[in-house]
Amino acid sequence: MTLKEFHAEIKDCQKCSLGRSRTNLVFGAGNEKADILFVGEAPGYYEDQRGEPFVGAAGKLLTELLTKIGLKRSDVYIANILKCRPPENRDPSREEVEACTPHLLKQIEIIKPKVVCTLGNSATQTILDKRVPITKVKAKATQVKDFLVFPLYHPAAALHQGWMRGPLEEDFQKLKEFLASEVKPKPLLKEAEQLDLF
Ligand code: SF4
Repeated sequence: MTLKEFHAEIKDCQKCSLGRSRTNLVFGAGNEKADILFVGEAPGYYEDQRGEPFVGAAGKLLTELLTKIGLKRSDVYIANILKCRPPENRDPSREEVEACTPHLLKQIEIIKPKVVCTLGNSATQTILDKRVPITKVKAKATQVKDFLVFPLYHPAAALHQGWMRGPLEEDFQKLKEFLASEVKPKPLLKEAEQLDLF
């Protein structure tokens, strides 16, 4: 299956109540053969209006961070745990996350990226399926199911808390080093395994 075919399959999704309040379903955007798949939490106002992920200020910072490691937006794929915006940008409910996460897992299966970079606590905890603070796991590769996860601070957090900008830039450099290394995903594991590569 291609991303286009999968998009056609879920474009009218009503698996949770957000299907009724969204303006546009925000499927994801970027390179279908990307080595990196970035995952945020959920679309915000502008994403909902345009049907594209990371189009606001946080998206601009993400583009800048990519440029610093020699990448363009068109080199990577960007998606969210939720495809539809929670009203007033409230936190997603557990039911919404459970309903929508299979869509993201299908995208990962289709793209087969070298690494899935979760952005922020919420996306990281959802994909790791552990209530672990991002400060403990950021910029470390972790095996989950049959793919590798490399958590990072969310660019929006770095916009609101200036001190995060430096560490986020450093972690993008670690991501670049990680991608240049020859680490290959391991076969399916039952539990998330911390590899502590750096
Ligand atoms: S948030 Fe996900 S599960 Fe809920 S309606 Fe949108 S696409 Fe479907």
